[in-house]
Amino acid sequence: MSAEPGLRPADGSRAADGMGTTRAWCVLAPNPSPMTLDGTNTWVLAEPGSPTSVVVDPGPDDEGHLRRVLELACSGDRRVAQIVLTHGHPDHSAGAVRFAELSGAPVGALDPALRLGSEGFGPGTVLTGGGCELRVVATPGHTADSLSLLLAADGGLLTGDTVLGRGTTVIAEDGSLGDYLRTLDDLRALADEAGLRVLLPGHGPLLGDPAGVLDYYIGHRRERLDQVRAALAAGAVTPAEVVAVVYADVDRALWPAAEQSVRAQLAYLNGG
Ligand SMILES: [Zn+2]
Repeated sequence: MSAEPGLRPADGSRAADGMGTTRAWCVLAPNPSPMTLDGTNTWVLAEPGSPTSVVVDPGPDDEGHLRRVLELACSGDRRVAQIVLTHGHPDHSAGAVRFAELSGAPVGALDPALRLGSEGFGPGTVLTGGGCELRVVATPGHTADSLSLLLAADGGLLTGDTVLGRGTTVIAEDGSLGDYLRTLDDLRALADEAGLRVLLPGHGPLLGDPAGVLDYYIGHRRERLDQVRAALAAGAVTPAEVVAVVYADVDRALWPAAEQSVRAQLAYLNGG
């Protein structure tokens, strides 16, 4: 990745403040956990020299974090033109109302209930608030309201929880594995069409080689589905029994989340 101009990779395999691209800067929120990895990546996006910026996923409602984001987003004479939520999970969105208050910027999200003054925000919307173009791409699956943002000038895609910097994504209760598999195929096509060079995830470090990462994600999902089919054929019945077979190699702290994934896999295999 170091060969890419303008790219600031994380140091090692952990997310870090300041990682990003020419137009994207990470502010890492202080909420690490097994589910949020190193914490939530809040992204500040701006064309160099632009008088405005865009903030993606203010993160948890943590005053210290929100003030750090504000400081970077408003450095120099800059002001925040737009806040965007990749989806409604609280580790991404809980600070949005407070951050809108601090910055005076509207909040855009695919779930209308989370929007503040961003009527008309939706799939295909092109934002120019940071002085560069950001295209909203609907990427349902992790949740029904998940979106990604294409930062074409940097060959970057902000993926929220649709693709993570480490490990793989969980299908939440309001998500759908069928949607998720279609989304991965769409993003794989986008990687070629848009010449993607880097993925900027909602948790974990930057990912170079987007096409390779997406191929891995797609292969991993197919493999897990095969393992679930095999576990069922071998007599597993409940989601917990399937988890114990398929996720035997995974940290037990993640089994409750894995059980949610297995429910999504069973629903998918049952045509849900
Ligand atoms: Zn999430």
